[in-house]
Amino acid sequence: MASMSQSIGFYGAAETVTGSRHLLTIGNQKVLVDCGLFQGSHELKLRNTAPFSFVPRELDAVVITHAHIDHIGLLPRLVAEGYQGPIYATPATIELSRISLPDSGRLQEEDAHYANRHRHFPQPVVPLYTERDAYEALKHFKAVHYGQPHELPGGASFTFSPAGHILGSAFAYITFHDGTRLLMSGDLGRYDTPLIKDPTVVESADYLVIESTYGDRFHSHEDPLGKIESVLHDVMKSGGALVIPSFAIGRTQELLYYFRQLQNQGRMQRIPIYIDSPMAVSVTHVYAQAHEDLDEEMLASVKAGNSELEPSGITFVRDKELSKALNSQHGPLVIISGSGMANGGRVVHHLMHRMPDPSTIVLFTGYQAEGTLGRRLLEGATMVHIMGQEVEVRCRIEKVNALSAHADQGEMMKWLSNFKAEPKMTFIVHGEPPAQEALQARIEKDLGWKTIIPKQAETHAL
Ligand SMILES: [Zn+2]
Repeated sequence: MASMSQSIGFYGAAETVTGSRHLLTIGNQKVLVDCGLFQGSHELKLRNTAPFSFVPRELDAVVITHAHIDHIGLLPRLVAEGYQGPIYATPATIELSRISLPDSGRLQEEDAHYANRHRHFPQPVVPLYTERDAYEALKHFKAVHYGQPHELPGGASFTFSPAGHILGSAFAYITFHDGTRLLMSGDLGRYDTPLIKDPTVVESADYLVIESTYGDRFHSHEDPLGKIESVLHDVMKSGGALVIPSFAIGRTQELLYYFRQLQNQGRMQRIPIYIDSPMAVSVTHVYAQAHEDLDEEMLASVKAGNSELEPSGITFVRDKELSKALNSQHGPLVIISGSGMANGGRVVHHLMHRMPDPSTIVLFTGYQAEGTLGRRLLEGATMVHIMGQEVEVRCRIEKVNALSAHADQGEMMKWLSNFKAEPKMTFIVHGEPPAQEALQARIEKDLGWKTIIPKQAETHAL
């Protein structure tokens, strides 16, 4: 037993922010941590169809840190290609996956259908996976609560603890049979955000895998309430639409909370607010129920019977026809719709329809990855191509800088400063190279730790 070899292989989120997939080899057992979809550019998306770098049926267990699609989105393919074991996740992560995985399957089917209808390929395009595949994958989920150690193959075990990123998000603290401890950060959240608990203090680990989405940035200290208030004020004046591309999980609920706060404080006139995303509607319901994950303030308020996520004037839109009908609705109004990077989902149709109108304001609420429509708009594009059509951008483009589910460089360093001893190695993943290099430089300078930025498919002994 003592000579059993251990290693970690980086098969996604290596020098990029999506596609999280880390393979732990423990002797002859294999455990996968996260199984995410690559998102963004065409080159990245192509990686989703490439064969896995391991044989799915030879994996013994899968551990999931949280329900974002770049961490779970390839599970249906993993199961469809033969994975038969358990998929461990927190109860809230499972609830959210029940919503987001079938949605992702439907989206894959719709994309394939669209491609086959509008272009003529020699072979029909097949979806990456289907809604049915997603339901098959969901059958493998097994709930593991925060703080409860759970066995893994090869004599290892793991414990989840709150990561402060989205509902149910967790660090996975893995202990190998020889006592070696590996901390997988998943996505590291922030301190003092509304709704969910802060990231857990960690004091030691032999090896650390840390994300670096905002490794080169500091979030603005801009007051999100003030920013949303001023944009609302402008849209009341222009009589247009405020279109907010928003992530269905986490960001939309935070926005609803802020709208409610503005109303409570008498800082917002009455305006219709449409949540045009069946997924966001379902997720909001999960947030309101998930007492185990909420921070003390939010929990107390929910227990007192307040609906913190239901500002007045809100309409939840599930139906596709009602979504289309929003096109003929005159402003002022607010439309919150996915996806958050405007690279898919219903918000794309709203943008096509509303961006040529100068009275529209588009408000981005989070990170916009390279190659997405959101990134192009924020960079000032005046003309964009959407679904084969040229769309003129005559509206105002804004961004709330303070909202993010990811720690910035300062918050990452604050979290790392809790460590009482230096890890033998810190692996920096889940970031674009400039962010990774900036975080690496800061860790080496301030803490003197050894770090590596692993490349795709690189393996390191532990
Ligand atoms: Zn995430």
